[in-house]
Amino acid sequence: MWHCSKFVLLLGGFFSIWNASAVAGAETVTRQGVHLRLTSDVADERLLDDLVSAFDAAVPQWLAFWGFPADRATGWRIDGFLMEDVDAFRRDGKLPGHIPDFKNGFATPDAIWIQRQSSIYYNRHLVLHEGVHALAFELFGGGGPSWYMEGTAELLATHRDRSEALRSGFSGAEAGLLAQAETSFRVNELPRRREDSSMWGRYRVIEKRRESGSLPTLASVMKLPTNLQGDVNSYAWCWAASLMLTAYPETRDAFIAAARNGRDQSPSFTTRFYREIGDQWPAVRARWRVWMDDLEYGFDRDAYRVNLSTDDPRYDGAPVNLAVDSRRGWQSTGVWFPAGTVRVQASGQCVVVAEATLQQDSDDDPNAIVHRDWISTPAGITVRYHRGAPIGQLQVCVLPIPSSGDKQTAPLRVQSLNTAPNGAVRSNVSGVVSGTVAFREVQIDRPSWLLFRINDVPGEIGRYQRADNRGEYQVQVSR
Ligand SMILES: [Zn+2]
Repeated sequence: MWHCSKFVLLLGGFFSIWNASAVAGAETVTRQGVHLRLTSDVADERLLDDLVSAFDAAVPQWLAFWGFPADRATGWRIDGFLMEDVDAFRRDGKLPGHIPDFKNGFATPDAIWIQRQSSIYYNRHLVLHEGVHALAFELFGGGGPSWYMEGTAELLATHRDRSEALRSGFSGAEAGLLAQAETSFRVNELPRRREDSSMWGRYRVIEKRRESGSLPTLASVMKLPTNLQGDVNSYAWCWAASLMLTAYPETRDAFIAAARNGRDQSPSFTTRFYREIGDQWPAVRARWRVWMDDLEYGFDRDAYRVNLSTDDPRYDGAPVNLAVDSRRGWQSTGVWFPAGTVRVQASGQCVVVAEATLQQDSDDDPNAIVHRDWISTPAGITVRYHRGAPIGQLQVCVLPIPSSGDKQTAPLRVQSLNTAPNGAVRSNVSGVVSGTVAFREVQIDRPSWLLFRINDVPGEIGRYQRADNRGEYQVQVSR
């Protein structure tokens, strides 16, 4: 086979079974796993071992994602090439002439090629990404059109890098606990912070476009051309779409079942998928708008799913009450509102937990982390802001069904409530404002859902984070 270099055999002098050969002068090393035989000119055996074992750990998880038993891939093995000097692999034939030039990585049914990246996380991400393509060839004869093929590969390549988490920032007992809790390698898990996913950059792409108000619509993502030319923006959109469509139970099964049509890369693949979810399409487009606003480090697909449906009843004019959970993202009132003005009133308290290090003048360990309960009311706590608004602040958003003719995804319009100045009672013990009632008249221009959330930094790690909040605000919407 072409990957056994004749050049090397002619030279002689290489007696190893599989582990060393030369790519036009450069030493290569091969690492053999169950499903991947990885050859590289990168002299980092720990990296290669890591990549091979991550790949082997991922294969049964990919099969489970598609609903196959683990033994479906028995005997399935591909060749992989992690390349520092791509030209040398070309000259040697390990990267054959019929494989076009590519950015980052390339897959065929039998082999994957990856250009060496500067971070462990991203090397692993690309090996897994190309591996998903290769397995999709094996199982389905292909991965479908770009949005689906690249989206699935991106989804199943994101992973939790436990070793990184253990190396950075966690000390002694915490690291031990983490190691116990996270002993296995998991794919389809979102990186929790930038330091754990160096070079991955998908959130950064989305944030940039969000800030410039130029996020794509879901329909435009599903029409991306066959060859994305390694465009990192397009990969981010495909990933975000796959993440959303698999996060919502209403679209998840249709998304996964579509893999079986993977041989079809034409628009008819997408037409078929659309037909499966067509009755929900308006709600799916609305979810996309919220989803693209929410994506950032700390995002949690379960906590940030918005419960909205085109089957929701129309608002009947009677007051609607909602308890807004401080641990979740946007929450709908469960009805849709016709055009008009509604009045929103909110009260209550929630606990926003702050992690802090003890003061220097304390007798205790100055680096010890303490958790402080900060009590917030709908006005929020102006000591700390996230995305320009105080944490703990109650926010409201009018979410219409996006027009099908929209060229871009409009940014969310987030509004806060007004706190009546004489409604606040300052407790002289804790300095906490309590007894506050907040109001707002909200203008609705066309049929819309009304969403509420308590602002906070997303995630479960860091100084402030939504995941450890407690409590809820009471909201009433009336005419
Ligand atoms: Zn790809």
